[in-house]
Amino acid sequence: DSVVYWMRMQDMRINDNRALAQASAQAQKDNVPLLAFFVLSPQDYVAHDRSARRIDFVLRNLRELKTSLAILNIPLFTTSHTPRKTLPEYVSCLLKKWNASHVYANIEHEVDELRRDIRVCQLVKDSNTAYVFVHDKCVIPPGVVTTKDGRGYTVYSPWLRSWLPHLVPKSDEDPLTAAPRPTANTKSIHEHPVYRELFDAPVPEAVEGFTLSADEKARITTCWPAGEDTAEKILERFLQTSARSSQLGTVSPLSEGAVVPIKNPDKNTRIGKYKDARDRVDVDTTSRLSPYLAAGIISARHCIRATLELSGNKKKVVDASKESGVGRWVQEIAWRDFYTHIVALYPRVSMGRPFQEKFADVQWETNEEHLRAWKNGQTGVPIVDAAMRQARTMGWMHNRMRMTVAMYLVKDLMIDWRLGEKYFMEVLIDGDLASNNGGWQWSASTGVDPAPYFRVFNPYSQSQKADPTGNYIRYFVPELAKVRGPEVHNPPPALADKLGYPRPFVKHEEARQRAIRRYKNPGQA
Ligand code: FAD
Repeated sequence: DSVVYWMRMQDMRINDNRALAQASAQAQKDNVPLLAFFVLSPQDYVAHDRSARRIDFVLRNLRELKTSLAILNIPLFTTSHTPRKTLPEYVSCLLKKWNASHVYANIEHEVDELRRDIRVCQLVKDSNTAYVFVHDKCVIPPGVVTTKDGRGYTVYSPWLRSWLPHLVPKSDEDPLTAAPRPTANTKSIHEHPVYRELFDAPVPEAVEGFTLSADEKARITTCWPAGEDTAEKILERFLQTSARSSQLGTVSPLSEGAVVPIKNPDKNTRIGKYKDARDRVDVDTTSRLSPYLAAGIISARHCIRATLELSGNKKKVVDASKESGVGRWVQEIAWRDFYTHIVALYPRVSMGRPFQEKFADVQWETNEEHLRAWKNGQTGVPIVDAAMRQARTMGWMHNRMRMTVAMYLVKDLMIDWRLGEKYFMEVLIDGDLASNNGGWQWSASTGVDPAPYFRVFNPYSQSQKADPTGNYIRYFVPELAKVRGPEVHNPPPALADKLGYPRPFVKHEEARQRAIRRYKNPGQA
């Protein structure tokens, strides 16, 4: 017999992994080996618009995990399966082969994944295999934070007020109290031929259809090195060290080398300055942990615990006040939980439906040229182009920029938000259905607790606020690298022509009025 842990794309870690820890405890109790496996599913990646960067990141992390788990004598077997329709049958064959008494997995809340898991459960119904699904992605699982009459929230602020008390650990067993780790298998597992095979099977080099060119692979690997240790160091850097450089471009968040740790979070640490500086894009102000959180290389619970440590653990209460850097950051982690809760409670948002059905008929422009220019960073609006080129280069974009380019696509160019949502998944390394859909529906004013439809960001004033030095634009839009002063935010037409930089397609004020008119009267042009 064996106990099996099924690792997925959102829980790629050993530390503080609840399904893995529970599987390990079960294996210890039953005195049987613990095995781990991961199934690559190329058709799912196509269906879910997964970026090649993300798939490459998955493979790089699987290699790290295989090595770390082998130290615990736990084999991690990576395999691939097509078509995705028969993945449950394939998994149940594997389980039979391994004589699995128990299978543990962390829940993925998206609709296709839930259907897949239900099907696997149906297939093993008559066997002796028990399935255990565990909530792990969020700090607080979906369904726990409810109104007094037991319903889910759809507005962030009351949800946050209700979420916060759950962060106070109730017992020593509370997931927020301690980070569990799996126990090692006995060494004798290596002698068994079936397990030996699993230890020996290598992680595939690539997934067909999701390969990166050598240049791109090198660049993305520099920006986002794999592994739990890396994620931990990035967290430490954010919590305990000061910002030194602008960190523009293709550098890893860790590339600064040793930075003197600062113990007092209220002083000059990145998190200490986060409250005031987080919306700046020309300086390195945010944690850059999203690729690691999205793939579960670090847990959101661990991030919250680390902020508790910062307050010396005296208060035992997580600071979530808007007035401190720590509090602001906790609130951002909270947005991640919030959007995942929404996907779990209102699955229609992951099926391309607006949360607010009244906006289902807003009239969109079909303009391939505008869409292409937006994707390529050629709209003629410098801040939009800089951000879109940052996404192409690094597979990542700052939050303020995500909001700015999303609003620009949806409200200035009047292009359907779903096309932007899809493109983000295709290009970003941190693509996460819940956060991405939440961010797009917020910007498109169709979501839960969205920007009101008449709120239309002015990209030029956003640019001046987020990039006051203009260095972000100059870095990512080399045509404008030599433009000094505020003209970099909105170069006069003659200058733009001279520099070979495009002119904008629309005038912001006219576009704003068109957007408001169309949102007011869905169905009308
Ligand atoms: P920090 O500012 O250091 O925040 C810490 C963590 O909190 C982030 O890593 C992230 O996990 C979480 N977080 C922060 N802001 C948000 C938010 N608004 N919504 C949800 N979680 C948040 N985030 C993704 O992880 N994947 C996505 O696919 C994604 N798509 C987005 C699309 C749009 C249109 C918008 C507006 C936002 C999107 N976000 C997404 C949220 C946010 O932009 C990124 O999480 C953030 O920019 C990552 O940078 P960071 O790690 O330095 O963040």
